[in-house]
Amino acid sequence: MHKKLFIPGPVEVRQEVLSQMALPLIGHRGKDASQLQENIINNFKKIFYTNEQILLSTSSGSGLMEGAIRSCTLKKAAVFSIGAFGDRWYEMAISNNIVADKFEKQWGEAFTKEEIERVLETGEYDLITITHNETSTGVMNPIEEIAEVIGKYPDIIFCVDAVSSAVGSKIEVDKLGIDILITSSQKCIGLPPGMSVCTFSTKAIKRAEKVTYRGKYFDLLSLYKYIKDKNYQYPSTPSISHMYALDYQLNYIVNEEGIENRFGRHKVMAKITEEWADKYFELFADKKYLSNTVTTIKNVRNIDFSYLNNELGKRGFQISNGYGILKDKTFRIAHMADCTIESLNDLLENINDILKLN
Ligand SMILES: *Cc1c(COP(=O)(O)O)cnc(C)c1O
Repeated sequence: MHKKLFIPGPVEVRQEVLSQMALPLIGHRGKDASQLQENIINNFKKIFYTNEQILLSTSSGSGLMEGAIRSCTLKKAAVFSIGAFGDRWYEMAISNNIVADKFEKQWGEAFTKEEIERVLETGEYDLITITHNETSTGVMNPIEEIAEVIGKYPDIIFCVDAVSSAVGSKIEVDKLGIDILITSSQKCIGLPPGMSVCTFSTKAIKRAEKVTYRGKYFDLLSLYKYIKDKNYQYPSTPSISHMYALDYQLNYIVNEEGIENRFGRHKVMAKITEEWADKYFELFADKKYLSNTVTTIKNVRNIDFSYLNNELGKRGFQISNGYGILKDKTFRIAHMADCTIESLNDLLENINDILKLN
């Protein structure tokens, strides 16, 4: 039996979207491929509230994270980590020989704008990375407040990992002054894994032009130049099948569901899951900074999680255990992409039934 995925990526993909990936291919150097990429970019500009450039990458989001820190750090990067994915960005910096410092919070907490400001005040950094939605802990950093502080430092390139929140949560890229915002196909967009996307500001372009060793495959400037100078082309062979599905799905999001409705639905789903978790368990994350897309639940009842997920599997559902050090202490329910309120309620009722809660 197929298990409906309530894990924080990959997510459940609608059948119509999957079918797009089975369409016959086109050459990637033709006009049709350019048109396809241009259409995708134009819809992303609406979803991210930006007039800056949009880059596609045939890789998961980690590729663009590595590309961003490598292509745009000249002096030193400040990496703000509140969990596993923040740590990953620091490891990418170090393994690419980028000078970087990591600033950490305890898992479950968010950064405040004051904490960010104290780091930026030193004047040591010219790029910062921050995780918008930390999927390991279920914490959403207060990106709008943080953006206010970063706005005071015009030399800083502001990079945001929004892999598990963008397209499910409103992030006004230009208003917030975000230079590079990254997301992957298999989270809130609702596609199979294998493609990722980022915004790329004029400021980031200027910075990348000054960086000598930007790598090759994830050189963001090269991705940009193929769009600008070669009419929406891609430096190597992109996953055309993903692009078909992406084009289809973005048209659905923008013209059928509506961007604001999509964000609203994610908020409602988060609320339902949080209320359920609060009633029967406890929330792991600081309540002021709860994620709109994934809820991390403290296993205060000491339930046997494998038993629960096995039983859910027999009924056609799958949820996720805790991440890394939280593996046995928490479990996670993702409510992202095209997940409906009905199917989420159905999942929670089944959990109640299996665990004999009520
Ligand atoms: C899933 C995830 C990533 C990694 O993305 P991939 O597409 O798997 O490379 C990075 N950051 C966050 C917050 C994530 O949830």
